[in-house]
Amino acid sequence: MPRTASSSASSSGRDAPPRPDTTLVRRARKIDRTLAETYPDSGIELDFRNPFELLVVTVLSAQTTDRRVNSVSPSLFAAYPDATALAGADRERVEAIIQPTGFFRAKTASLLKLSQALVERFDGEVPGRLEDLVTLPGVGRKTANVVLGNGFGKPGITVDTHVGRLARRFGWTEETDPVKVEHAIGALFPRRDWTMLSHHLIWHGRRRCHARNPACGACPVARWCPAYGEGPTDPVKAAKLVRDEGRA
Ligand code: SF4
Repeated sequence: MPRTASSSASSSGRDAPPRPDTTLVRRARKIDRTLAETYPDSGIELDFRNPFELLVVTVLSAQTTDRRVNSVSPSLFAAYPDATALAGADRERVEAIIQPTGFFRAKTASLLKLSQALVERFDGEVPGRLEDLVTLPGVGRKTANVVLGNGFGKPGITVDTHVGRLARRFGWTEETDPVKVEHAIGALFPRRDWTMLSHHLIWHGRRRCHARNPACGACPVARWCPAYGEGPTDPVKAAKLVRDEGRA
């Protein structure tokens, strides 16, 4: 059983918050540094030009690929360049534009409500604080952290399916609740690293450390991974599992 951030409480005082052990921290940071070298181009794979566009494309990215979102977003923003325009949009026209991203009726309803809330409560601007962002309809902590980290340059840990899975495989946490996972990861890394760390994990999860059949035999961080062996360790078999085709 790997030691985790939450299972290694400090013994320095009864009221002291639990601190992750130094071995875990060192190993976690080595993993991040290695992933940064492995994926030097890692970053957000959604196209956007400002926080409003980032918020919209993040909502659209649910249950689909970033590539598909990127294929529809130019038409959407040409027709509706800001929150005011999208708040007053014709529902059917928006549905037609974003249809390729799936769940287009629900997503259109979300985008219209979201834009209306931005206009009514934030003068049509995307707020740059977590506590404001999460009050917007359809915006959870994950989306808020994506917007803060990539739209405002404020460090944020995005706990999506990849980040949660990898954090558990690395032994950083045993939690499944995204907020608890976020806090466990945050305790292992300096704030300034949070946004890029999220990208490194997401890229590794998309390209090698898949939910099923991770490419363990072709993994640059295998030596520090307690879950090594969950996927094929044979280098030839593992190499076939690596997806390096660019945007996933
Ligand atoms: S060794 Fe396997 S489980 Fe561990 S990070 Fe690499 S691919 Fe994922």
